[in-house]
Amino acid sequence: MRSQYDAVVIGAGPAGSTAAYEIASAGFSVLLLEKHSRPGFPLSCAEAVSIGAVASLPEMREEWISTRIKRACLVGPNQCRITVNRKNAGYILDRPRFDFALAERARAAGADLVCNAIGRDLTRPDRLFASVDVLLESGETVPVEAKVFIAADGVESQIARTAGMTNLCNRDEVFAAAQYRVEEIDIESDVMTFYVGRKIAPGGYVWVFPKSDRSANIGIGITGKTLRGGDAVRMLNRFLRTWYPGGKIGSRSCGLVPTFQGTGTFRLHNILAVGDAARAIDSFSGAGIGHALSSGKHAGRAAAAYISGEITDIGELDSLYPGRYFDERLEELKLYARLRRAYLRFTDGDFNDIVYILRDYFDGRSADNIHVGTLIVHLIKTRPRLLKFIRYVL
Ligand SMILES: Cc1cc2nc3c(=O)[nH]c(=O)nc-3n(C[C@H](O)[C@H](O)[C@H](O)COP(=O)(O)OP(=O)(O)OC[C@H]3O[C@@H](n4cnc5c(N)ncnc54)[C@H](O)[C@@H]3O)c2cc1C
Repeated sequence: MRSQYDAVVIGAGPAGSTAAYEIASAGFSVLLLEKHSRPGFPLSCAEAVSIGAVASLPEMREEWISTRIKRACLVGPNQCRITVNRKNAGYILDRPRFDFALAERARAAGADLVCNAIGRDLTRPDRLFASVDVLLESGETVPVEAKVFIAADGVESQIARTAGMTNLCNRDEVFAAAQYRVEEIDIESDVMTFYVGRKIAPGGYVWVFPKSDRSANIGIGITGKTLRGGDAVRMLNRFLRTWYPGGKIGSRSCGLVPTFQGTGTFRLHNILAVGDAARAIDSFSGAGIGHALSSGKHAGRAAAAYISGEITDIGELDSLYPGRYFDERLEELKLYARLRRAYLRFTDGDFNDIVYILRDYFDGRSADNIHVGTLIVHLIKTRPRLLKFIRYVL
């Protein structure tokens, strides 16, 4: 590790590794810091991605894929269910391998990857940030200078917070999530299943995502001011006792999933925040891997343009990042944040209604090419009382 780079990226998740890859590919020096002993470890993710979310990658290697998803099933509070077919819907990844490969791609392009290294305080002697303190495994802290810093250190981003870019979300602005790898269960390996309802998962849902035909990631994300610490784990245990009583629990993980908090969390001076650190996420489902990849890509390219001198005034950077990323994803970020606001108000009766309506709607039809707006209109036409939620969506 040197004491000076063109860019320092803090965090080697999908967002940070992608940004580092773009900067190194453009021929600039970049340091990629990871606080754990290797990227992709420990796992705190249900590992689901749509095909579209990973479309920006030049390839999807077989070793990154645990299962291929072709159907989605929604189970309402009264256990009524609907299963929808969708050709090539997505994958359940092997995320440790996936994350590791993305970091290796950055390294192969020329990035210096340093693990067991924590990016901490940034110094800002004048208008721009000049260096970041790096705590090494040896216990030594060394400053590293750069022209651009990328905060890719996840939902609790210390870098974004200490720089004054984002605060930790309020309790009702995050999902508290808990997940187990459950083995020795009978499961269809191409169906992802969601269980909804206020009692089962207030403000969120339970997911069962198959890792094989005998194992799954089973987890819960919940939200709300009224919840207490430990509720996610208690509710997940209750779910497992009811639905998978014979399952053998393997690895366990807990974590927070952020929600989109507006456009002000992406750049401050010469720090670009990406992925969860920027709250770049689908606030409705909690899917963040695709946003991590695309925000990382655009931030990396913008950083390279600034380092090369193509952009001289830091303020102009906005047109590239977050500008280009917003061109692709801002409407979607906003739509899903609004859908979440409506979702938080659903009663169990509303959930049951929605499952019944979708069951009639999809009877024998595939979900290919169905637009979320079309579905919302259909739901409201069929049950006009759902109209009361429309003001949260508009
Ligand atoms: C339980 C759970 C289930 C989820 N399931 C899904 C899902 O199925 N599909 C989906 O798309 N999304 C899912 N998500 C969300 C998804 O995991 C994140 O949106 C995604 O990982 C964001 O990528 P990132 O690179 O921004 O951050 P991260 O993947 O969190 O990576 C951040 C990296 O930075 C490192 N780091 C942190 N601080 C420092 C520091 N100070 N110095 C150096 N390194 C640091 C961390 O160790 C980590 O490697 C889930 C989240 C949770 C909690």
